[in-house]
Amino acid sequence: MRAMVLERPRTPLVMRERPAPEPASGEILIEVAACGVCRTDLHVVDGELPNPKLPIVPGHEIVGRVAALGAGVAGLAIGERVGVPWLGFTCGVCPYCGSGRENLCDRPLFTGYTRDGGYATRARADARYCFPLPERRDDAEVAPFLCAGLIGWRSYRMAGAGEGTAAERTGPQALGLYGFGAAAHILAQVAAWQGRRVYAFTRSGDDAAQAFAKSLGAVWAGGSDEMPPEPLDAAIIFAPVGALVPMALKAVKKGGRVVCGGIHMSDIPSFPYRLLWEERQVVSVANLTRADAREFLTLVPQAGVKSEVTRYPLEAANEALADLREGRLQGAAVLIP
Ligand SMILES: [Zn+2]
Ligand SMILES: [Zn+2]
Repeated sequence: MRAMVLERPRTPLVMRERPAPEPASGEILIEVAACGVCRTDLHVVDGELPNPKLPIVPGHEIVGRVAALGAGVAGLAIGERVGVPWLGFTCGVCPYCGSGRENLCDRPLFTGYTRDGGYATRARADARYCFPLPERRDDAEVAPFLCAGLIGWRSYRMAGAGEGTAAERTGPQALGLYGFGAAAHILAQVAAWQGRRVYAFTRSGDDAAQAFAKSLGAVWAGGSDEMPPEPLDAAIIFAPVGALVPMALKAVKKGGRVVCGGIHMSDIPSFPYRLLWEERQVVSVANLTRADAREFLTLVPQAGVKSEVTRYPLEAANEALADLREGRLQGAAVLIP
């Protein structure tokens, strides 16, 4: 098999030829058809996350076909299409696993960070953390759902949305999305489908991103330094920019919530207490649970969510990462082996 490997943080990935792994007990071997490029991969490559397994094959938005089954795997068949997300393993016995919060597990493994991921022609995964993908649509277009979609969905739930619709007056009516990349472009469609008013915030002057947001259902799009035309019920920050936290707090109304959806963010500048006053909240979202994934993957076809992807050959992984870093992408980057 071929894999793009990170040997040391802050160095380019290198193409390596490796023997195809055998699936261990409980694992499957996957022939990778597409793997999305997530901002978290950039944080791994740039050395912004502690203690990655090294060398590591990044990539945690894997779509592929089951090529081999390890001992004891039930419920998956050879040739079946599956998706592999960021959450690669949880211990099952810690207090978090025991209370339905496996996203906070004390001894987890993460795909493409602490176990090898999908920037490769083949990948191994624990079968219990893979999801069958029965819906007929292009492999590359499905890949971004496996992290951008799932983390977006968990952030959305954390913002008080998810169940019910705006018409039923449940959850936020006016929702701000800061950073209009892969996650926001998926989530904007879900929120608009549920009748919520989506306000998209991009880098100031990024007309293309603002037009893109409006084409996906945003009622307004502007720079992140602008105030929206109405106060927001909730805001989700996807851009890894700490300075957005006080800006978003300024934009939410009394009792409003600001959700930080990323795994890494630059420092949050100090801000006056009055921005937090009146029961405004700031919370973060970490990882995902398998329940989040099942919920979201069921909703995708109902809501008619589409993803906009830019395809790169596997060996162009460094170019894809550079384009993401520089903000040259609209939607999501996907590697095709
Ligand atoms: Zn655990
Ligand atoms: Zn991700």
